[in-house]
Amino acid sequence: MAEPLRILSIGAHPADIFDQSGGTMAHHTSRGDYVACVVLTHGARVHDAVISDSMFHREEVPDESDLVALMDERSDVKAEEVRKGCKILGVDDIYFFGADDAVLLVTEEIVKRLARLLREVRPDIILTHFPKEGDGLTNAHAVAGQITLHAISHAGSVDPGDRNTPHKVAQIFFFGAGAASIPRSVWQSEGGYYNDVFIDITDVADKKLAALDCLVSQGYGGAYARKRIETSDGAFGSAGGCAYAEGFISAGAETHYYLPVTEHALKNARSSDHERIDANSYRISVD
Ligand SMILES: [Zn+2]
Repeated sequence: MAEPLRILSIGAHPADIFDQSGGTMAHHTSRGDYVACVVLTHGARVHDAVISDSMFHREEVPDESDLVALMDERSDVKAEEVRKGCKILGVDDIYFFGADDAVLLVTEEIVKRLARLLREVRPDIILTHFPKEGDGLTNAHAVAGQITLHAISHAGSVDPGDRNTPHKVAQIFFFGAGAASIPRSVWQSEGGYYNDVFIDITDVADKKLAALDCLVSQGYGGAYARKRIETSDGAFGSAGGCAYAEGFISAGAETHYYLPVTEHALKNARSSDHERIDANSYRISVD
């Protein structure tokens, strides 16, 4: 391989980068590529053991200053969990933007901040949410994808005060849609896009599981992480013809010199029905 790739995975909430690209990140760090992450919101409201769970059954929530202090504290807990999980995947650089996950919007401020980071980190590849996920309007994942697209566009130009030169990315892979989820809202009747890239993460599914286990405050550790790996990565795997996979939607068509065919496609084509079923049925040990 020529030069190591520079990859940046950008998620709306603390768990998203693991959920959607944990195995892929693990492959690239062990090959020697540079991988970093951005977590746009502090995520203290999303599935948090204290904020979204215990507050739910109280008579009344704490007053403003106490609640703000508590959310700050929970944000720090979540950030620490992300650092721990990323370490397992070989990722050291994580950029926390700390936006409130109450109402995530495409604002000039967050777009410019992310664009500056792109000029500094200079990724070749960006992994992020599909900008039309869910209703494409209020869905925080979709908005994160939109913020990223605006930032990529802005990073290609100069910004007064930022001394870094303009930067362009080579490819964007949006986090795969669907997997095990069944369409269940009117927004999911839209389409025209599909997961066109699958990364076979079978060999690192246990690492991904260990990273998900770090997200204790989210309620993702333990049983949920195991269910998640089987239902989602297992479903992506079934679609991709392997045991466990992460699915992506590539933003742009690729240009090649020779016709592209993967080793995986050749191997599958040369395997019998039952050899393929056996390979796809492999399950990681979850204890
Ligand atoms: Zn999320």
